[in-house]
Amino acid sequence: MNYDSDNIFAKILRGEIPCEKVFEDADTFVFMDIMPRADGHCLVIPKTPCRNMLDASDAQLAACLRTVRKMGHAVMAAFGAEGVTVQQFNEAPGGQEVFHLHYHVLPRHEGVKLRPPGQMADFDVLKTQADKLRAALAELG
Ligand code: 5GP
Repeated sequence: MNYDSDNIFAKILRGEIPCEKVFEDADTFVFMDIMPRADGHCLVIPKTPCRNMLDASDAQLAACLRTVRKMGHAVMAAFGAEGVTVQQFNEAPGGQEVFHLHYHVLPRHEGVKLRPPGQMADFDVLKTQADKLRAALAELG
């Protein structure tokens, strides 16, 4: 499988394009989705290259899932969510648009549907939501 090192998330990791960062550890990086389908929608990615789940190493998957769970707790706390949806797409027919492995973490509330895809967020709103997530992470330890 080909990894294109000029994909958008690789550029975000290199600091070549901006993002609203929420968290990072040695192996993973978390930032707000620019077209959120729910308030608090964030993305978890490995810091090392892989296209998606199909070419990821066990270590990359394990590191991402640890961070996905951490962010699951954070979105529950920060947005008073009652549930969490995790989405991960593989290859274009599987719904993937950016070809660097990523997990969507979406806070959910009873009876509230996800917003349709493709609606660009207001950057000030994204920052406010990221502030809430950073505060929740600090609280959770
Ligand atoms: P997927 O590949 O899982 O279908 O979708 C890629 C996701 O990345 C989408 O939810 C889209 O909103 C998000 N996205 C695409 N380009 C950017 C970007 O430049 N910055 C950020 N923060 N998110 C992006």
